[in-house]
Amino acid sequence: MILPDSILGVLGGGQLGRMFTVAARSMGYRVWVLDPDPHSPAGALADRHLKAEYRDESALSEMGGNCAAVTTEFENVPAETLEFLEARVPVRPGARAVAIARDRIKEKTFIRDQGLATAPFFAIRKLDDLKAACQQLRMPALLKTARLGYDGKGQVLINSLEQAQQGFQQLGETPCVLEEKVALELELSVILARSVNGETAVFPIGENRHVNGILDTTCVPARIDEAVAHRATEMAQALASAMDYRGVLAVEFFLADGSELMINEMAPRPHNSGHYTVDACITSQFDQQVRTLCGLPPGSTDLLSPVTMVNILGDLWASGTPHWERLFEHPQVKLHLYGKRHPRPGRKMGHYNCLAGETGQAIEIAEQVRLALGTANDA
Ligand code: AMP
Repeated sequence: MILPDSILGVLGGGQLGRMFTVAARSMGYRVWVLDPDPHSPAGALADRHLKAEYRDESALSEMGGNCAAVTTEFENVPAETLEFLEARVPVRPGARAVAIARDRIKEKTFIRDQGLATAPFFAIRKLDDLKAACQQLRMPALLKTARLGYDGKGQVLINSLEQAQQGFQQLGETPCVLEEKVALELELSVILARSVNGETAVFPIGENRHVNGILDTTCVPARIDEAVAHRATEMAQALASAMDYRGVLAVEFFLADGSELMINEMAPRPHNSGHYTVDACITSQFDQQVRTLCGLPPGSTDLLSPVTMVNILGDLWASGTPHWERLFEHPQVKLHLYGKRHPRPGRKMGHYNCLAGETGQAIEIAEQVRLALGTANDA
């Protein structure tokens, strides 16, 4: 067990690393962040910010030599980086789980191999692979790059073989998956924490709404049947134990036809749709990341209050600094800003959690705040 006052390392210094840093430091740990960006949101709050590239061996040696354990805030950290550190210090989650989650072909194949449902898909590694895939999939379909796609980036909507061929070329003929576009009823996420001993604690399921491929709101408790919630939880747990996973794992689901659950993707880390846990659960997803990293048992994931989380994107700055005072007028709303200097359209700048006696009320408050902030400069 790694106890307070030890040094914990985190690879990546964005908002997820920042919230990990806050959780760890609150518990009395020291935190080192590795991120080349001198303005990294996590670096600003860390005990030490190593401003180096992820492959920089001297920075990695320093991290490996001083940290009691290392975690990551993103899956695109180079495989060699994790392997280099794993040889020196516990790294959770490990290189294998991160490698699966980093690559859509590996990820979807792994999920399917566990007997768990995904949207029908084919791996596309070369132009020739498209013909058979298009014959067997129902159109429309989505062509997604296997790597480095997020928030709907690196995706093309496909209606025919010809479009698929153009799309593949447009994406640089890099390995892709072609998958059926599902008639989505809802999107859900299950976030869990799994300890070194395999003890698992699952957070209440989040009901997610995306706008332009980017998460907009998460609402908890999700408005779904008990049976669907149970099945989604089981599927996420099966995936975690198949990987002998250690750390926080987020699994995103599509729900179609009322009860058909498909796994879309997983993230080997805390997830945007789990930000509600910071204000609404006994243990937050970042507390769990600290606990599982340190060889401690997971904490209780009990929900203290219904909650709606709303993301704040850079678009909100289009006509100047948002009127935060309008948000603060609501006593049940908690603002979280990530300390990013440059608001850009689509860039995640922060979020707010609205807590209320029941889900409908939390959603209502969220919409009132959205309106108040959105019209901030109309007055
Ligand atoms: P992804 O990057 O795969 O998480 O996709 C971003 C968002 O695009 C998802 O959260 C969905 O809203 C939508 N999406 C992705 N794949 C599909 C699909 N196969 N069918 C329907 N919608 C999808």
